[in-house]
Amino acid sequence: MPESCLFCRIVRGEIPASIVMQDEHCLAFRDINPQAPVHVLVIPREHVPTLNEASEPEILGRILLMAAAVAKEAGVAEAGYRTVINTNGAAGQTVFHVHAHVLGQRHLAWPPG
Ligand code: AMP
Ligand code: ZN
Repeated sequence: MPESCLFCRIVRGEIPASIVMQDEHCLAFRDINPQAPVHVLVIPREHVPTLNEASEPEILGRILLMAAAVAKEAGVAEAGYRTVINTNGAAGQTVFHVHAHVLGQRHLAWPPG
């Protein structure tokens, strides 16, 4: 529900966030519980619960383009970084407003846990 959704509340400015980048479509802010020295979340301003409900190619493209821009600005683009979208329970999604994690500035193992 957009009214009670944590990330919609960040979009509306009702909850503080450490915003690193924004435009009219998307917002990028630091994860409150970082799993790497660089850990930023990129979200659409529009409420979409999970990747399964996403239907607009343009919004998905904008999320990924902002993820790359965040990585460049954070200085991890050349060394390497990871972009992750967790979908539903088995993948560990905890906030049901679609978001891409941008993780970097440390070695990231593959396969992921
Ligand atoms: P996921 O598990 O993929 O749904 O990721 C949700 C992420 O949101 C987690 O990494 C949390 O640490 C992060 N998170 C939860 N609340 C906040 C908040 N208020 N500000 C920033 N990040 C948050
Ligand atoms: Zn939302």
